[in-house]
Amino acid sequence: MGQNRIKLTEYDMKFVNIFILIKAPHILMPYIAGMKTTKLMYLIREFFFPRGCALCGAALLGSEEAWYGLCEDCRRDLQHEEWEHNAEACSICGRPLISEIGACLSCRKSEGESEGEGRNSGHSCDRLTVVFPYTGQYRKLLGAYKFGKNPALGHFLEEKIQNLRSVLADREEAGAAVLCPVPPRPGKIRKTGWDQVEYLAKLLEGEKLPVSRCLKRLSSRSQKTLDREHRLTNLKGRFIAVKKIPKEVILFDDVITTGATIEACAAALKAAGAEKVYGIALFYD
Ligand SMILES: [Zn+2]
Ligand SMILES: [Zn+2]
Repeated sequence: MGQNRIKLTEYDMKFVNIFILIKAPHILMPYIAGMKTTKLMYLIREFFFPRGCALCGAALLGSEEAWYGLCEDCRRDLQHEEWEHNAEACSICGRPLISEIGACLSCRKSEGESEGEGRNSGHSCDRLTVVFPYTGQYRKLLGAYKFGKNPALGHFLEEKIQNLRSVLADREEAGAAVLCPVPPRPGKIRKTGWDQVEYLAKLLEGEKLPVSRCLKRLSSRSQKTLDREHRLTNLKGRFIAVKKIPKEVILFDDVITTGATIEACAAALKAAGAEKVYGIALFYD
């Protein structure tokens, strides 16, 4: 594992690098020339203000490691457990199915409850896809990105959204779909200083992907203490379209718990004229 990667020889390498940088920078030129400027910046930043790997703390050695904020070992381990998109998924929440068919047990349970009460359970999202379980290393990863405000991890997460977008494009013929970030709670950015989902939107735009911030969230009571049904009620009408709505939209969010937020967004998009709405959640609880 990553913890064993910090060896004296690797630290020595840093000093060798500094020596080369000062004494013979031309040796590095072909290497630097092949690197994206932004990647180089991350490497330089890591060189002078090292954060280390977000998961194991090992020193980040190359430009790839600095770019993703993760050491090779940890990045490989994360990908290893990545949800396979051709595996069976719940038709409602997108979580992987273990032995169920169609919808997972918890969705069927809440479905049954809402039918019994004559309430609309609401499936405005045509397909919801998830990537990582919100446990162990994955929980740590999101924590380091969201609360630790480690922007390098955004590169890792943004690639997952890109991958899922192409999966959706192939499977649902949603090639023209526009990405839309789930808008933050009003006041959240003022409080924490940044919006981690919006940051992903910026990175995706940087990759020349179509992004539209066509939804706005109105203020509402905090969702954290409510269950799914109450969340749905609480969220109804809390999202409004503020721009022309694309025909096909792919909503994306960092973490999904009850799915009520993404559902409310999808409902708002459909009400405003979207024909197909897909959802991507990086982590599922
Ligand atoms: Zn690591
Ligand atoms: Zn489900």
